[in-house]
Amino acid sequence: MFTRSSGSPISVVTGSAGFLGSHLTDRLLAEGHRVIGIDNFITGNVANFSHLAGNGNFRFIKHDVSNFIYLPDDVDFVFHFASPASPIDYLEFPIQTLKVGSLGTHNTLGLAKDKGAGYLIASTSECYGDPLEHPQKESYWGNVNPVGPRGCYDEAKRFAEAMTMAYHRFHKVNTHIVRIFNTYGPRMRLRDGRVVPAFICQALTDKPLTVFGDGSQTRSFCYCTDLIDGIFRLSQSDYHEPVNIGNPREMTIKEFGEHIIQFTGTKSSFDFKPIPVDDPKVRRPDITLAKKLLGWEPRVSFEEGIAKTIEFFRGRIAAGDPVA
Ligand code: NAD
Ligand code: UDP
Repeated sequence: MFTRSSGSPISVVTGSAGFLGSHLTDRLLAEGHRVIGIDNFITGNVANFSHLAGNGNFRFIKHDVSNFIYLPDDVDFVFHFASPASPIDYLEFPIQTLKVGSLGTHNTLGLAKDKGAGYLIASTSECYGDPLEHPQKESYWGNVNPVGPRGCYDEAKRFAEAMTMAYHRFHKVNTHIVRIFNTYGPRMRLRDGRVVPAFICQALTDKPLTVFGDGSQTRSFCYCTDLIDGIFRLSQSDYHEPVNIGNPREMTIKEFGEHIIQFTGTKSSFDFKPIPVDDPKVRRPDITLAKKLLGWEPRVSFEEGIAKTIEFFRGRIAAGDPVA
């Protein structure tokens, strides 16, 4: 799929200055691709790709992909990862979130169609909303509140999936949809508000861990390199419907906090705060399809992934990055 008559394949990655977009960029470069990264830095950070300075196979363009994208280059594959992803971020930028999920998806699909390129959109387990089916299979249509505070993200991604399927069915673009479940690892922003950076930074600075609600809600955490491997395999497949990629090891948020307290050796305890509106009560991916279709399953244990992530945050805090 990625072969071209001369030279290496060329991939476009939107959101390349973000957590996952930067890891995907690294993986594509390691696979021999040339990568054009696009980002407007709304939640991204130049530090996430500063290690690529001087790499002739990587080029960066600062651009908001909710506006028309002009690229003179040949392109073999478009990976659309641009979008605020933390609930704190998309509550701060609801309109930009709706625009990048709708207009940004339309523009990136248009780019793929124009270039005759393959396409993969980073969708989300949020498409299932506060799920009434557990664990979540791809066939579940979800339980989403379109007008609640999370609606700007959930509905933008559901629209993005619908638009992607329309480009596949009508324009025959070779599209792929990954539904990403909570993924963590190095390069998350210290202050992005998601539970993994929040608890680790609080623990490393001996502050109380802010548990929302009573902490009985569950999540299932996937390490970033596992996720990227599943995504790379999906991009090479002939499958066009949504595929869940995530780690099925499920725990309550309070259990997650207890692990962080244990692994960091902090003196911190818990500070219980009100639960955000529409916060999903349970979340765990059914990954039967990914296993069968892609021969994929997560390999990095929770203990190993969290240890690497704690080391990353320890380094950032020691370097003086603000935590709160
Ligand atoms: P992130 O905030 O670290 O990265 C998103 C990147 O997109 C940032 O660099 C941001 O500046 C950029 N961006 C946003 N809007 C843009 C625009 N209009 N034009 C150009 N760039 C723009 O988030 P992340 O965790 O890396 O998430 C990446 C993608 O994966 C998102 O689409 C997100 O919805 C999806 N996803 C992530 C998770 C997760 O657990 N990390 C879960 C589900 C889905
Ligand atoms: N959460 C928490 N304390 C925090 C941040 C998040 O208890 O400081 C909870 C949040 O309410 C949710 C879970 O942790 O139930 C995961 O939140 P996150 O923002 O990481 O992502 P979500 O899965 O909700 O998109």
